[in-house]
Amino acid sequence: MEKIEKVRCLIVGSGPAGYTAAIYAARANLKPVEYAGIQPGGQLTQTTEVENFPGYPNGVDGNQMMMDMREQAERFGCDIRDGEIVKADLSKSPYQLTTDEGNIIEAETVIIATGASAKYLGLPDEKKYNGKGVSACATCDGFFYRKKTVAVVGGGDTACEDALYLSGLANKVYLIVRKTFLRASKVMQQRVADKENIEILFEHNTLGLFGEDGVEGAHLIKRKGEADEKLVDIAIDGFFLAIGHKPNSDVFKEWLETDKIGYIKTIAGTPKTKIPGIYAAGDIADPHYRQAITAAGSGCKAAIEADRYLSEIGK
Ligand code: NDP
Repeated sequence: MEKIEKVRCLIVGSGPAGYTAAIYAARANLKPVEYAGIQPGGQLTQTTEVENFPGYPNGVDGNQMMMDMREQAERFGCDIRDGEIVKADLSKSPYQLTTDEGNIIEAETVIIATGASAKYLGLPDEKKYNGKGVSACATCDGFFYRKKTVAVVGGGDTACEDALYLSGLANKVYLIVRKTFLRASKVMQQRVADKENIEILFEHNTLGLFGEDGVEGAHLIKRKGEADEKLVDIAIDGFFLAIGHKPNSDVFKEWLETDKIGYIKTIAGTPKTKIPGIYAAGDIADPHYRQAITAAGSGCKAAIEADRYLSEIGK
């Protein structure tokens, strides 16, 4: 039978926004319950070194940072659970959220910090070779491509970071970029340029993949739509996607306003949504900055807002 649980502050998601909200909410005695989601720790668990979070002069491993944040939240009594929120009814307070085990949580306040997930190109071959050479996580799967040849798709910081990481394992890395330039920061561009085993294929798009039991190569098109358009095949063992992320807002879309990509809209400068007691923090509400530090900051704001709201309504 389903269990109904009453919670003052429910936090959904466990990236820097969720964990920071958890630390603040627990210290404010809101007795928060946090559902960590399908990827506990969020996107930072898939990155290597985080070099731009203040307080770590020598950088910090992304996974380690998230484990530290979790430990800090638990130290103050946050009840962190491995599981997902799969349904929401935000029509009236207390809000009703359903867990993946079918239990109901009745929450006075909800902090949505579900982040974003890696995007795919949408090619049928990505599904066909899923787990057989296609990956959206270089740090998770790079190990399997030692001394092999791989390709990374994308021209942003993630693509450069993945290409650099893979260049330390694989013999050769292709970076497939659809434009004539990289969008990544100058420092990342320079690091990629300095690596002899990374070859950038500018103005290339992927048409498909080929291989018997796993990826053996990719069909590319160079200068698509131009007079000198050309088909190019490259031999690769692994195909890594690094083309950005999709906000994980599906569960809440029915109730909250989102932009056309799916980012939850909040009241400018705050994590408040149009529903009292419902907040959105971190990448789920941030198409612009998408940094660990900005996510952590908005998680903090959300917990402070939740605390004030609960005081106002006398709960
Ligand atoms: P971005 O949105 O910055 O970049 C996505 C890249 O993928 C772009 O080059 C884009 O091309 C390309 N792309 C998108 N769709 C397609 C497609 N269908 N086919 C081919 N290419 C495609 O995402 P990132 O994940 O790289 O970065 C997100 C944010 O996180 C950024 O703000 C970034 O600075 C930050 N970040 C910071 C890091 C750090 O500081 N260490 C590490 C990683 C990320 P186009 O340019 O043509 O649009």
